[in-house]
This record gives sequence, structure tokens and C-alpha cells, in this order.
Amino acid sequence: MPKQNLKGLDREELVAFFTGIGEQPFHAKQLFRWIYGKAAASFDEITDLAKPLRQRLQEVAALEALTLVTRQTSHRRDAEKYLFRLADGLHIESVLMHEDPDFPLKSKKKNRDNRPSRHTLCISSQVGCPVDCKFCATGLMGLLRNLTAGEIVDQVLTVRRMSESPITNVVVMGMGEPMLNYDALIKACYLLADDEGPNLAQRRIVISTSGLVPKIERFTKEGHKFRLAISLNATTDEVRNRIMPINRKYSIAILMQAARQYTRQAKQRVTFEYILLDGVNDALADAERLKNLTRGIPCKINLIPYNPIVNLQESAHDSQPSILFNRPSFERIEAFLACVRQGPNAVTLRWSKGDDIDAACGQLWTRVEKRV
Ligand code: SAH
Ligand code: SF4
Repeated sequence: MPKQNLKGLDREELVAFFTGIGEQPFHAKQLFRWIYGKAAASFDEITDLAKPLRQRLQEVAALEALTLVTRQTSHRRDAEKYLFRLADGLHIESVLMHEDPDFPLKSKKKNRDNRPSRHTLCISSQVGCPVDCKFCATGLMGLLRNLTAGEIVDQVLTVRRMSESPITNVVVMGMGEPMLNYDALIKACYLLADDEGPNLAQRRIVISTSGLVPKIERFTKEGHKFRLAISLNATTDEVRNRIMPINRKYSIAILMQAARQYTRQAKQRVTFEYILLDGVNDALADAERLKNLTRGIPCKINLIPYNPIVNLQESAHDSQPSILFNRPSFERIEAFLACVRQGPNAVTLRWSKGDDIDAACGQLWTRVEKRV
């Protein structure tokens, strides 16, 4: 009989597991704390379970985990990239970003606003992504598979074990479209927020989507307290259709309606991400339209200058090169920012961290898949 993997099970499922093997259900509570609170990697570590039970667990169950392949730190020391191998040999990446590059190891040093410095882990939700945005390395890869809830959570658990820094925030902005792996994603987020697990406040977990409107509506209806970010990236359907094919299904007007509905129901701001592509979506007319589109929606706007990506697949097959993008000049970025700033909503310009280790937004495409 194959061993049951316990990582990724919630409390009820752990109770059912113990009952199913004829053991006392209260062990579920102990195990939950060890798996998610203490990030135990093996049953041996679980010292408050009697030895015979630990042996039994070893025979019938597993704590299947991600295997760390490499860990790289950026030159500016503001990002750490973790490359993991999954049980079936595929790879994913997670990136830990430090708000303060001289990050205080495990200390409580405050940043300029006198609040504790943030250490944000960017996690993946799928291996690859089927959404096919034309500027994104993960998109070029296509979808290989969804991650399980256990694999999503284990990115946090493993980095927590490996890094000298704490994790204060989680963003689901790595590889994949989280809303296409909805059930596993939501389950994983609740495990991360559990006070007997990693205990991250729900508002410190951000889910970023390319704009799957029915899933945004479901998310709104279910009333979760996790935050929502939407990758808008264009202000006309013509441009958005071209760079994000998902827009042909859910147009900008429909998407903005869903965003507005979310902010009303959740009583939360939404974040709009807007990647700046030279000559594609970075004109002052776009900045004006962005201001108008977001008017009346409580939101934050994150401008992200495009990170150039390499299309490894095409360079390998020597086929037609796809649309190539460039990062706008500093002057164009500044002008765009200044224009959007005149609107009512908060705007930030986010230079990606970790670009020297291919850990920047949209770059998370492990070259390992190409090597094997
Ligand atoms: N699939 C989700 C989450 C992962 S992508 C989504 O699309 O929102 C996370 C963010 O990275 C998105 O906002 C996306 O627009 C951005 N991104 C993708 N490729 C990029 C690139 N080459 N440069 C800068 N940002 C990029
Ligand atoms: Fe997928 Fe997001 Fe990349 Fe688009 S930007 S291809 S949705 S990971």
C-alpha cells in the first residue's frame, strides 16, 4: 500500500487518518503542531509521540517534503532564491525578499517608519503556468501541473527552517496562476494562517491573479481575509488581449467590476499590479487611463518595470522569436509614475529584488527543466 503523505492534511483529515489506522484521534492535534508549527521534517523529530507510534507512522505514512537543490543570495543581499525539487522530479522556486538589505538576522530592528522590517516570501502555486502572458518566463513554460496544498505550504516551512531571517509576509506571486489551483491554494493559505502553524495573519498573505473573474467572484463570496492583487498590466483591451490572452475571456471592464465588488464586500483595498513595457503600455495616455480605470476603487497601484526574460525554449528550438519587450527608460517610468500619482490612489514603483539571481518577478523559470 502506498504511504499516506501527511503534509498538507488539515486537522479533520489528520483525525480521519489516525482513526483509519486504529489510533487515537487526539494525536492529530500533536501532529498538526509538529508539521506546521515546528516544521518537523521526519517522524523521528516528534518526540512527544511514543516510539511504537512513531515506528507505525514510518511504516504507513510519510512527511513528503520539498528537497532543496540550491539556495542563492543576491549581491545586494536583498533576496534569497530557493530552488526545490518535488517528489516527481519537477522543480519550483520561492524567493525571500528583505525590505531592509542589511536585514537584521532574527532581530526586531524597525525600519524607517518604525515598524518591523518585512521579510516577504514569494511562493509558487503551479509548476509552470497555462495563462501564457507574453512577458513572463513561467508563461513560456506552459503548465506542467498544479502544486498540492502540502507543496505550497512546504515552501514556507522549508524556508523557515533554512533562512536566518523570519518570514513576516507571504505573496503568492511566484510560478503559476493561483486561482487555477483554487482549492489547494485556499487550503494552504488557511494552514499558513493557523495559530498552531506558521501563524501568519491572513492580511499578510497576498494572492495575485492575472484576472480569472469567476474565481475572483468566488473568492469574494467566500469572504476570505487574505489580500487580493490583480495583474492589470494594460489599460485597453487591445493591448491587454495581446500581452495577456486571458483578457479575451475576461475583459478589462468585467475585471474592474469584479475588483470593485471585492473591495466592497471584503472592505479591503485591492492591489493592481502594472508591469511597464517600453512602447507597449507606458505612454502618458496609459497613465491617464489607469488613473481613470481605478478611480472609485479603494486600491494600491504597484508599478513594476519589466524584467527582461530569456526565451530559452525558442533559443533551444531556434524557431520564430516571440514579441520582445524592453524596460522603459528611467525618464519614461518617472513620467508615468508622476502622472498616476496625481490620482487618488496610492502608487508605488517596485524595482524587483534579486534580478541578478533570476529571482525577479516573472523570471521564475527554473533552468533546471531545460538541463535534464
Ligand atoms: N499568475 C499570477 C501570479 C504570478 S505572476 C499573476 O499573474 O498575477 C506575478 C507578477 O509578476 C504579475 O503581476 C506579473 O504581471 C509579473 N510579471 C510577470 N513577468 C514579469 C516580468 N518579466 N517582469 C516584471 N513583472 C513580471
Ligand atoms: Fe502565469 Fe502570472 Fe506569468 Fe501570466 S504573469 S503567465 S498568469 S505566472
